[in-house]
Amino acid sequence: VGRLKLDNLVKTFGSGATAVNAVDGITLDIPPGEFVTLLGPSGCGKTTTLRMVAGFEDATSGRVELDGTNLVDQPPNKRPMAMVFQSYALFPHLSVRENIAYGLKLKKLPAAEIREQVDVALTSMNLNALADRAPNQLSGGQQQRVALARAMVMRPKVLLFDEPLSNLDAKLRVRMRQEIRRLQHRLGITSLYVTHDQSEAMTLSDRIVVMNAGKIEQAASPDEIYRRPASVFVADFIGRANFLAVDVLEVADGNARVRVLEREFTIPAHPDIGAGSDALVLVRPESVRLEKVDSSEQAHDVVGDHGQILAAVFYGENVEYEVETEHGTIVVIEADPDPETIHAEGSEVRIDFNSERSWLLPNRD
Ligand code: ADP
Ligand code: MG
Repeated sequence: VGRLKLDNLVKTFGSGATAVNAVDGITLDIPPGEFVTLLGPSGCGKTTTLRMVAGFEDATSGRVELDGTNLVDQPPNKRPMAMVFQSYALFPHLSVRENIAYGLKLKKLPAAEIREQVDVALTSMNLNALADRAPNQLSGGQQQRVALARAMVMRPKVLLFDEPLSNLDAKLRVRMRQEIRRLQHRLGITSLYVTHDQSEAMTLSDRIVVMNAGKIEQAASPDEIYRRPASVFVADFIGRANFLAVDVLEVADGNARVRVLEREFTIPAHPDIGAGSDALVLVRPESVRLEKVDSSEQAHDVVGDHGQILAAVFYGENVEYEVETEHGTIVVIEADPDPETIHAEGSEVRIDFNSERSWLLPNRD
């Protein structure tokens, strides 16, 4: 068990002219054991949504349900949930062991049982050697592992995370991601995780909920969100994106015949886009191929699309180009580049892209 439902949740701060709709009608159905991430820019309402689920914040309207029970009248400490914060929020005057035991003591479990459960948590989070230390004798990553152990020892039905890795350095963040994912898989606890970091969301989640200005833009698997974003906002927020103006020539049988740059091809249609309408095609930078134009060829003799390299930045594992085309500047990323063949700034290239990986979007914003 642990089915979490949010039904048209709304939170308005203030009133009248200064009212802020921080959360503007969030509906979500999270089956037991699913790992769902709320992803979006700062201020889009992620924390407020999480705090209403936890009970720290009263909803202006709407419901939070756990396994069919409306939680609205339950105070936070009565909800079978545990929350992990960005700031760790450990008790500074208690040891690691006492921090983990704290909630179990409040529950008035027998001392022997508390000891046993804390030992299990210490072992599983690899904290045994640190059990008697105070929080200020721990690194950030170690403190966050204590916070995780303290949350999971309560055996909550739902785990809530608010940007728990934001205070850690880049390497540790990646390691802790894997640790959280493993722990969640093993325990199978329904999890709602808040972050503004798209790669964190991509690697952790069964499902990503992209939020914008208090509303859901799209809720789907990481793969779906990346390849078939519902809007320009989503496409732009997740990963890098080129948006190319497109002529929609024909729409039939769920497919659209389009012209992009100098090419015509067929891609899945979009419900809001008919023939002749103003639309964009999303082309991810890694779907574009560049080919050197022979110095004997003049640029205007090149068949198909061509461009000029404006910038080439070598990152080791990939090289990132900015290419000027007749249709605007596009970003191209080549993985595993051979330093010998990197296109020089100013050189002419032929442009080709994988039309199967491109995606039609309404030109909304
Ligand atoms: P996020 O976590 O996505 O960055 P928040 O949920 O913290 O966003 O905030 C959403 C919006 O609500 C923001 O505009 C923020 O300024 C506003 N907000 C959050 N908490 C309060 C509060 N206690 N009083 C007034 N406005 C608030
Ligand atoms: Mg926040």
